[in-house]
Formats: sequence, structure tokens, C-alpha cells
Amino acid sequence: PPRRFSVAGGKTEFVASHDPISSPYETTNFVDNEFVSSRAESWIDLHDPATNSLVTRVPESTEAELDAAVRSAEKAFPIWRSMSIMARQQILFKFVSLIRRDWDRLAASITLEQGKTFQDAKGDVLRGLQVAETSCGITSQIPGEVLEVAKDMETRSYREPLGVIGAICPFNFPAMIPLWCIPIAAVTGNCIVMKPSERDPGAAMILAELAREAGFPAGVLNIIHGGPRAVDFIIDEPAIRAISFVGGNRVGEYIYSRGSANGKRVQANLGAKNHAALLPDCNKNQALNAIVGAAFGAAGQRCMALSTLVPVGEAKDWLPELASRAEQLNTTGGFEEGADLGPVISAESKKRIEELIDSAEKEGATILLDGRNFKNMKYPNGNWIGPTIITNVTTDMTCYKQEIFGPVLVCLETPTLDDAISLINQNHYGNGAAIFTKSGPAASHFQKQIEAGQIGINVPIPVPLPMFSFTGNKKSIAGGGANTFYGKPGLQFYTQQKTVTSLWRHEDAVDSKANVNMPV
Ligand code: NAD
Repeated sequence: PPRRFSVAGGKTEFVASHDPISSPYETTNFVDNEFVSSRAESWIDLHDPATNSLVTRVPESTEAELDAAVRSAEKAFPIWRSMSIMARQQILFKFVSLIRRDWDRLAASITLEQGKTFQDAKGDVLRGLQVAETSCGITSQIPGEVLEVAKDMETRSYREPLGVIGAICPFNFPAMIPLWCIPIAAVTGNCIVMKPSERDPGAAMILAELAREAGFPAGVLNIIHGGPRAVDFIIDEPAIRAISFVGGNRVGEYIYSRGSANGKRVQANLGAKNHAALLPDCNKNQALNAIVGAAFGAAGQRCMALSTLVPVGEAKDWLPELASRAEQLNTTGGFEEGADLGPVISAESKKRIEELIDSAEKEGATILLDGRNFKNMKYPNGNWIGPTIITNVTTDMTCYKQEIFGPVLVCLETPTLDDAISLINQNHYGNGAAIFTKSGPAASHFQKQIEAGQIGINVPIPVPLPMFSFTGNKKSIAGGGANTFYGKPGLQFYTQQKTVTSLWRHEDAVDSKANVNMPV
């Protein structure tokens, strides 16, 4: 039977009943502030990754349902945008307090559908909540500029909402990534049509319920489900002015190019292969713990997971110790007390990751810690892979060239820091890179030379807080990184500028002849 959860007195426990919003037997769409059953002819089964029992089925929404969501957003837009920004801000304050109230419920839905541990799922919610909280300060971020440009003449700039926004989300952060979009897009006056990942839409459904309770008018947030067809609908629908996408390169590059060709504004955060240079002069304990946490947390299914280690010089001698720390991690169901990492998202994903480990072995690497064939007796049907460390990896190996997105750390040793920097810079991804060292000059050299968008110095996962922006570069973001998520660029993405130049002169002109030249 499916595992169910309830949240009572702040404690999450399993009970026979289930959350009707996040995990009904059939996931509904959310259109015009109503949870609407789909008339879809095809459905996607969603399995609990720890047990592979059916949790819910998710519709491949029909054309009419997708269309209804856009029409609802379109209808809501003129009313929502003309509401005072303070009124929208009040609704956002309420939304923030409701997310905090239902924090455990959101996290439980994530653990059930996505598999990550309950504590980690709470972090997923919190990082999104922080974006929502920061968005409440929009009233001091959105004001335009004004300048008296000539006598009696001034130019002012305004930031206006775009209209209807389409958002397409990945499976790995079911709360955080919808919350990279909803609060900023909504408080700036836009309406949203969101397609969560078909693999774990439960958290987005709870967010929809909370948005309605907070006072979002009907049509401001709509949620529809589906796969590639729903995505194509969003890309091609003329009423959708901008697309916010997070996911892998194959899909993201397609969405970016086709969406841009359709004249839409597109932000697209893509895949990653994040490296850490480990210098022998670092605080060893802190560094090894940080690397193990960032490589294997969330079973490596984070865009900022630290998936590639570059031990410099003698730091290679620590690899056996790193393996023994990784081996101690508790790989089990995400609701279990003391769970460190859960299962991977699906049986297909497990197979793909295991094949990548096999390929490393065939291509001559050493499997220092082998998580293939890992079994969890309590959850015999789960998608388990234990922490895996591959050493003696070279840059031409498949396990290095591909994003593994599982609990696998690949290690490439280099003799010097400059060799490490040049190796990291040759990788075509550029999300994040970290260095572990006690040397200020080494860290400063690394920071300046490295071509990744987010640098950690003795910090493994440098995901910037929402007052900054998520700044991947190279192949980790489409469009050369012009449209990054949240922070000031997030506000810019969801608004367009209007500049108004006005002349207010007390007296009428004396000259009766029109001047046809550009003023000089
Ligand atoms: P994915 O690209 O498979 O799916 C993302 C979205 O695209 C989903 O909503 C899915 O339904 C849709 N989709 C899937 N296949 C499609 C197709 N053929 N045509 C049209 N739409 C399609 O990504 P995922 O597996 O859900 O997420 C993992 C990926 O996301 C990893 O590559 C990870 O690095 C990346 N990611 C990046 C960031 C970042 O900020 N850079 C953050 C989180 C995840």
C-alpha cells in the first residue's frame, strides 16, 4: 500500500489517511482557483521512490484544459496588475506565513514523491520560502528612476508586469523551484501558468492551495500537468509572454531556442557538473565532511551537487578516508530517523546511473566505493544506489562527460592548483565550483580564474541567498546567462520597462513655426 503521512502537532507520522491535495489518487489541475479533475486520456503513474508503490497518477492534460488555464490567467491579468502593489504585497505576506505554517506538510509531500529525506525536504521548502519572503520587499526594489532631462521636461521609468508567465519545473526541488517563480512573478503583477514536474507535483499543488487561502485572486496562479505536449503548448501559446524553465540541457536548450523564436522572454537554468579543488593545506575534517555532504546529499540529485572532486597534490591520499566517511551514510527511506540519503527518483534513473558507473569501470577507472547492488531490507523495492566514489577518472570518460545526477563522486587528481583550474575550466558546464584551502592567495587566484558562475571558498554548495541571484554560466544556463533567477535580475525578468518623457511648461510656445530637426 502507498505510504501516507499526516502532520499532527508538528510531528510527521504515517497514517492510513492521505493528503488530498498533494497526493490524491488522481492529481488534479488547478485552474481559476479550483482543483479540477482532468479528462485526460493518458496518465503518468507516480511512484514513491522508496517503495515503488503508486502514490497518484498525473494527467497529460488535454488541449482544452491547457487552454482554460491560459484563458484564466489572461482574464485575471488586468485586475491583478491594476491592484495596488501594497495590496499584492499583503497577499504575499499571508502566502509566506502559510508556507511556514504548512512547512512540514510540504516537506512530507516532497519526501513521499521525490524521495529526499524529510530534513532535506524541509531545506527545499525553506530555500523557496526565503525567495518569497525577500519578494515581499518588492515595494522598495521596484520603483523606477526619474530625471529632469531639460527645462520643464522629465523622464521617468516604470517597471510593468509582462502578462502571463509560463513556468516549467524539474523534479529535484519540488517546492524551491516553483517558489523561484510564483512570488516574484505574482507580486510584480503577472499571472502564472505553471507545469510542475510530472514526477512530483504534490508540493506545487499544496502551494496552489496556500496561494488561494492567502488571497490570490482566481487566475493569478494556475497549475496544469503533463509532459512534452504541455511544454510545447506553453512554448507556442501566444498569450504566454515569458517562460521560466529549470531542468536538463536537452529540454532546456530546446525550450530556449523555440521560445525565443516565438518572441518570448526565456530564462532557463540547466545541467551541471560542479567541481571542487581540494588542497592539502585545507582544514581537512571540515573539507571532507563538506564534500561528502554535497556529493551525496539528496542522493546527488541537486543542480549544485558537488559531483567532481579534484584532489591537488597530496590531498589524493585522503580519498580512502573520504570513502570511509561516505560509507557511513545511512541510505534509507526519507522519513526514517537519521536518514542521510534517500532513493533516486525512478527505476530508470537508477539504471542510468548504474550504467554510468559500469562505463567508468570499463573505461579504466577505479570504483573505490561501490553503491551498485545496494540493498535496503526495509524497502526492498526502492530505487537504491549507495554512495559511490570513482577514482582515476580522466576527462574523456563517459562518467566525467555526462551529468550523473546520482550519489556518485568522480575524482580526477592533479599535481597543482593551476592544473586543477585548467581542468575545471575545460568543462562545458559552469554552475558552481568550490575550493578548500587555508591559503587566501590560492583562494583568490581560484576565484578570479575559474569560469563557473558560483564559487564556494571552503563552502561546498554556494547557492546564493535570494537577495543575490542564481548565477550559473556557460552551458549551465541558456542564452549566455542574461536572464538569471531571483534577486534583482529576477525582478527584471518578470517586468518590462516603460519610460515616459513629459513636458509641463507653464506658458505656451511663442514661435508658430514647427522645428523638424532633432534637438541639438
Ligand atoms: P528535465 O529536463 O527532464 O525536466 C524538466 C521539465 O521539462 C519537466 O517539467 C519535464 O516534464 C519537462 N520535459 C521533460 N522531457 C521533455 C521533453 N522531451 N520535451 C519537453 N519537456 C520535457 O529535468 P529533471 O530531470 O526534472 O531535472 C534534473 C535536471 O535539472 C538536471 O539536469 C539538473 O542539473 C537540472 N537542474 C538545474 C538547476 C539549475 O538551477 N541550474 C536546478 C535544478 C535542476
